[in-house]
Amino acid sequence: MRDGTGAGLDAAGLIALDRAHVWHPYGPMPGRTDPLVVESASGVRVRLAEPAHGHDELVDGMSSWWSAVHGYNHPVLNEAARGQLDRMSHVMFGGLTHEPAVRLATRLVEITPEPLRHVFLCDSGSVSVEVAIKMCLQYWRSVGRPAKQRLLTWRGGYHGDTWQPMSVCDPEGGMHELWSGALPRQVFVGPPPAEYEESYARELREAIGRHADQLAAVIVEPVVQGAGGMRFHDPEYLRVLREACDAHDVLLVFDEIATGFGRTGTLFAAEHARVAPDVMCLGKALTGGYLSLAATLCASRVADGISRGEVPVLAHGPTFMGNPLATAVACASIDLLLGQDWQQEVKRIGTGLRDGLAPAGELPGVRDVRVLGAIGVVQLDHPVDMAAATAAAVREGVWLRPFRDLVYVMPPYVTGDEDVARICRGVFAAAREG
Ligand SMILES: *Cc1c(COP(=O)(O)O)cnc(C)c1O
Repeated sequence: MRDGTGAGLDAAGLIALDRAHVWHPYGPMPGRTDPLVVESASGVRVRLAEPAHGHDELVDGMSSWWSAVHGYNHPVLNEAARGQLDRMSHVMFGGLTHEPAVRLATRLVEITPEPLRHVFLCDSGSVSVEVAIKMCLQYWRSVGRPAKQRLLTWRGGYHGDTWQPMSVCDPEGGMHELWSGALPRQVFVGPPPAEYEESYARELREAIGRHADQLAAVIVEPVVQGAGGMRFHDPEYLRVLREACDAHDVLLVFDEIATGFGRTGTLFAAEHARVAPDVMCLGKALTGGYLSLAATLCASRVADGISRGEVPVLAHGPTFMGNPLATAVACASIDLLLGQDWQQEVKRIGTGLRDGLAPAGELPGVRDVRVLGAIGVVQLDHPVDMAAATAAAVREGVWLRPFRDLVYVMPPYVTGDEDVARICRGVFAAAREG
């Protein structure tokens, strides 16, 4: 350590300090396996500090957990960050405002479904779900129905790692089983089937009707359940939820943190069903993967209800709310996305994934192969051996992060056809060896 801070260390030195001091996601301390050290990233490639299995660079199949839709080190996003850095990287949002935040909020209102008009900016997806839930509970308190404070969701979902979001994650098989006795008890229905089934639609309607007096909101991930199991369902269920929520006076929240910004083939997954929620959460790809930022949008009904209440304010205000750097990059990322034929790119990647992943369907131990938008999933019939699967992908020059029984990808939209094919070879190898 030349200067006492870790700067100037080689990869082995960094890993030694990492093991001693740094906690990684969903991991023990110290970690069981050594992470790869990344030196830089550009386009769809992550450059390693030291070659792994003969590769200095890996093609990224993960978009850094759904976020880096334009790839890394993009000149337009770099310029947006630099330009904003020279003006100010942050000012508080209480009593002050600034152009990037106002532009972003206005832009989000323009591109999301019609009744969503008001935007609460926050720092991460989990916090945006906390805010969405607080909005819904407070709405019912404000309009004189304080008993409506539970949430209904379907199994197989994932909404984040902070307390309220954990309470609506799948209670089994997920990452939050440990807390089942300590979390608020929400109402769960079975996981949504892939195809439309009238009996399941009836189950949804009945559950909402039965619990309506206690329900503040229904919260779901529309069309794709991400970290809860990478499952896809018929968009018609969203219409069923909308109708039942309207019939029984329950708010509807769509968590589009993973599905937003084109990933499923429409700009927002709600568009597959032409259904609008009362509250919507956005995050992940919002800044093109540059900075942590999320947003909770709500309809005027919700905002007006809260503002007429006994406590007429939403008591939430993160220190870095509306961060100028993050909002400036988000504006640039949205302009970049909408300024190109992104539907065509998502479709092209989907076609590449469908062709490239088909052979995995023939492998022993593979239960299902599915593709939607620019998302590809190979589901195994056993828990994946993460170390073996990751190493197999790295040998193909591909970065993947499988979980549970799933080897899955959602590449940046700028991934060329040859790199999509390479990613598919990585998935095949991971599914075979994991
Ligand atoms: C990732 C994710 C979250 C949590 O977002 P963080 O930024 O990780 O807090 C919530 N909901 C969904 C659907 C997600 O995919």
